[in-house]
Amino acid sequence: MKRDVLKNAFDKQRQFKSKTVSYRKKPLQSAKQPDVPKGLYEKCQSCGKTFIAKDMIKNMFVCPSCDNHFRLRAIDRLNITVDPHSFLEKGLGYITLDPLFIDGYEQKVADYKKQTNLDEAYIYGYAQIESIPCVIGIMDSHFMMGSMGSVVGEKVTKSIEYAMVKRLPLIMFVASGGARMQEGIFSLMQMAKTSGALKKLDEQGLLFVSVLTHPTTGGVTASFASLGDIILAEPNALIGFAGPRVIKQTIKQDLPEGFQRAEFLKDKGMVDKVVHRHALKDTLHTILKMHQGGSE
Ligand SMILES: [Zn+2]
Repeated sequence: MKRDVLKNAFDKQRQFKSKTVSYRKKPLQSAKQPDVPKGLYEKCQSCGKTFIAKDMIKNMFVCPSCDNHFRLRAIDRLNITVDPHSFLEKGLGYITLDPLFIDGYEQKVADYKKQTNLDEAYIYGYAQIESIPCVIGIMDSHFMMGSMGSVVGEKVTKSIEYAMVKRLPLIMFVASGGARMQEGIFSLMQMAKTSGALKKLDEQGLLFVSVLTHPTTGGVTASFASLGDIILAEPNALIGFAGPRVIKQTIKQDLPEGFQRAEFLKDKGMVDKVVHRHALKDTLHTILKMHQGGSE
């Protein structure tokens, strides 16, 4: 009986296949448009200082005082990364189901949809960076902490497949609290699915650049986020599988300073380069340029 219910849930989800559309009913909007009324301030979570939102936008949401990189909405990340008007969004129309009948889950998803104007915690599509075409995928941690449920896993997989169809390099900005607990095993199986798709991408000789941003944790770190041919990270981003508290309790040892931060992981070889947000677009452009036409 239960098995039938789950099967039906899957079948239903399959009906909402990727639609190739270049528009949204409601356009994606930056949470902080440059024409914000005077008096709207952004507070830095790290140093506690406040700044005019307009200045923060100009500074790419990096604190001018302590250099803290704020968490970015997908649309803001898009705006500072790709060429204006080059983004063509794919994979719209997915609907998040509640396969395990968790109380309040559907409502929670509905609330986040309204708050963020996103279908789910991941968007992807075609874009250009300094005129070089690529497929770009961006996780948004403002949508349920960027957790990976069935739809996020499916869209990540679709973005990988789209890169294969178009034979384009894939750039993914990762920010996630990990697997989505409300979807249990359905969420965990996305780890294998996304990793399997990346294996195929690799076999086709295509480039995958993974950019780890604050925070990248749990099942997302343990799957596609760590499988980049090149792995970049933003300064001081928290990157890990289990949280430091859990590890400390398990191994009963104090953890080294800077543990699970981007710079620490760079020293240990898990991250190739820590790149300041101001330099990220240039770095990605250089990487894309170096790999143009040389993929096979
Ligand atoms: Zn600050």
